[in-house]
Amino acid sequence: MQRWVIGVDLGGTQIRALRTDLSGKKAARAEQLTLAQQGPQAVLSRILETVREVTAGISQEEILGLGIGAPGPIDSAGVVHDPPNLPGWKGVSLVDELAGPLGLPIYAGNDANLGALAEHRFGAGIGVDHLVYLTVGTGIGGGVISHGRMLTGWRGFAAELGHQTLDPDGPLCGCGQPGHLEAFASGPAIAREARKALEQGRSSTIPEHADGAVTAKSVAAAAMAGDALAIELLRQAGYYLGLGLANLIHTLEPQRILIGGGVSLAGELLLEPARQTVDQRLMSPVYRGVEILAAALGPDVGLMGAAALVMQEGGSPR
Ligand SMILES: [Zn+2]
Repeated sequence: MQRWVIGVDLGGTQIRALRTDLSGKKAARAEQLTLAQQGPQAVLSRILETVREVTAGISQEEILGLGIGAPGPIDSAGVVHDPPNLPGWKGVSLVDELAGPLGLPIYAGNDANLGALAEHRFGAGIGVDHLVYLTVGTGIGGGVISHGRMLTGWRGFAAELGHQTLDPDGPLCGCGQPGHLEAFASGPAIAREARKALEQGRSSTIPEHADGAVTAKSVAAAAMAGDALAIELLRQAGYYLGLGLANLIHTLEPQRILIGGGVSLAGELLLEPARQTVDQRLMSPVYRGVEILAAALGPDVGLMGAAALVMQEGGSPR
């Protein structure tokens, strides 16, 4: 019998669903807007609609299970704890809400944790059982694979890698605390520094690459075209990223670190300064040589991770 796995990514903007076979090969996908301001019940019914789209024509017993990734905080039981981009989701259990209507085993996790699982199973982390994954975009999230398993912590809240304090007097993070890694190296942080430099009169081609407001994307485009200020801004973000990575290397001793998310599209302009900083900040040469590479899976990483969670928890051998 053909066996399928369903992966769902519940984002603040979009709900996306995917059906794959057990090797991760995509067979169907669907997406629609989350319209999060309409509240949990409306969003849950849209999740069910997207799942029904990707399971049309498939019999129930062919489906091994459904995995769903959601923005943290979400606990190991699949209860969502009021994430900023999903208003009204206080204590809503994705597992309970979806298991009844779908009649499937449901597995839920933090979207960035699932990104690590996806890269481990299908992407740039294949064969590496001690892996750190960071997604650098609007925020900075992360996931840790230790001994081949996702590190979840006691209740499932582990691996908020973007919320480590690098400077107690630093700029405010998206979470409200000062000086977290996310406040220095996320897309909005890079854009903030760019606007500040431009307001101070620095000459740069960044505005020419901006479609309206200056964003990290316009900084990256200008940097790739050789703009000195843009290169400096990415170097600075890479420096802070490297400080964070050195902390993670000391704490977790991964074999490989993968950087994904929109900002990672700046490539070596971000990664090389991060590697240099790591090399300068290690407490002993024994920690040297950790591979710091770009992640492989792109925007589908959360969906693939949700599918990978079913394969891991549902007992599908790798
Ligand atoms: Zn924070």
